[in-house]
Amino acid sequence: MVLDSMKEIFEQMETHGLPFWEVVLRADMEDRQVTRNQSMAKMLTTWQAMVDAADTYTGTRRSVSGLVGGDGLKMRQYSIRGQAMSGGYVSEVIAEALSMAESNACMRRIVAAPTAGACGVLPAVLLPLCKRENLTQHKILEALYVASGIGMVIATKACIAGAAGGCQAEIGTASAMAAGALVAVRGGSGAQIGHAVAMTLKNLMGLVCDPVAGLVEVPCVKRNVIGAVNAVSCADMALAGVESRIPVDEVIEAMGEVGMRMPVEFRETALGGLAATPTGMAVKARMHKQG
Ligand code: SF4
Repeated sequence: MVLDSMKEIFEQMETHGLPFWEVVLRADMEDRQVTRNQSMAKMLTTWQAMVDAADTYTGTRRSVSGLVGGDGLKMRQYSIRGQAMSGGYVSEVIAEALSMAESNACMRRIVAAPTAGACGVLPAVLLPLCKRENLTQHKILEALYVASGIGMVIATKACIAGAAGGCQAEIGTASAMAAGALVAVRGGSGAQIGHAVAMTLKNLMGLVCDPVAGLVEVPCVKRNVIGAVNAVSCADMALAGVESRIPVDEVIEAMGEVGMRMPVEFRETALGGLAATPTGMAVKARMHKQG
């Protein structure tokens, strides 16, 4: 079963009377020729790796350039002190997104979702919710299948890597996956998942990939935060009944088209945007000197 559009998933749901996550699970079983238990066991391993990465984060490590590290800890402490304007859950989402993305920059073990650079977005929305609402393991797996299905469709119809389509493709896809997962956790419909995905991608459309010195550090770590917070707001909007005026598959295609036409300077080459600022260039020169 090839899930090459959101429409295809919606049709499968309708025809067979299945929830979104079950359509994706069956596609995985068919695609990899595995049993239901084998598919779910692999997904559980993925979840466990996210949990382990979060549990072992201390905030003491620094990245190769020294530009990244410790911000997840600062945000967590600020959140614990009750000072965050964004409130309990969202401030925890911000702290988790920073911690996980820093972990990638500091060479710790993470789960690419869909890429390493965007690894903080999906766990950032799920881990705090899991703790706050005591979600069952099955509920988490359902959310992860929904996220995977969304990622699969975007990878097929458009692109998911900064080098291919800019940060809108990388953080944008992670944000769409996270938004869909949240809607699924809250029992939203397939249509609501579609609206959440469409809104997340629309909000980040055109975002360039401009990593300083070509390192996945600046602005990448903080862009994981915007991907996660965007996911929360779009999931809430979709669950409230807000709809995207442009259908989700058309939004995905538009994002792919913007990515294809994006100048090469803004597709992970570190030749434009923040990478080309005087400070960005100075970091590059320093890194070059260090060998
Ligand atoms: S700026 Fe580029 S490398 Fe950094 S997170 Fe975005 S897509 Fe990834």
